[in-house]
Amino acid sequence: MASLLLLEDDTAIAEPLRYALERAGHQVTHLLLGSEVVARVAADRPDLLILDVGLPDISGFEVLARVRRESRVPVLMLTARSEEVDRMLGFELGADDYVPKPFSPREVVARVAAILRRAQALPASALAAGDIELDEVRARVTCRGTPLALTRYEYLLLAAFMRAPERVFSRGQLMEMVWSHDVSQERTVDTHIKSLRAKIREAAPDLDPIQTHRGLGYSWQP
Ligand code: CA
Repeated sequence: MASLLLLEDDTAIAEPLRYALERAGHQVTHLLLGSEVVARVAADRPDLLILDVGLPDISGFEVLARVRRESRVPVLMLTARSEEVDRMLGFELGADDYVPKPFSPREVVARVAAILRRAQALPASALAAGDIELDEVRARVTCRGTPLALTRYEYLLLAAFMRAPERVFSRGQLMEMVWSHDVSQERTVDTHIKSLRAKIREAAPDLDPIQTHRGLGYSWQP
């Protein structure tokens, strides 16, 4: 059982979805406005957030960006818009998965289960590699003692690298480990690696532990 926050202004969509999720054993809090979400995430600490893109007050993307400043809660986005650009924007902002409308409640229940399984699969331990420490219990990363503000995907990429130092990962392997399903564009991995490197460099200008292997992928060199 998980506690879910469902943000969807259309009750004709929200009600059957809520029913299906509750039948699957989850506890669901239903919200109608984007402006309520950040405070509720902070107060309720839900296990997962289901977020509609088209909301009456602020866009779901804006809500996601605000949530990500404070929290790494897994986010499943619902949207009527299926254009690749919207999909990519959602992933770039740190969504975990994406379900285009119309969908069956059963499909959403299955995606929720997959995301929760992945979230729980992360081992509760602390990793340290040279100057970088990653606390998997608190999902906190520090570089020479300076906290790094990472997005969810940057964090998961870093954790994947730090669990297997010096192993060369292909982009496809990283996508499989970090993203839940086929994001279809491997440059998404490159984008996140680039921002992760920039954040490490900002904390420690002489540090560049992520190595590029041309034609192969990336590895972590502590
Ligand atoms: Ca809507």
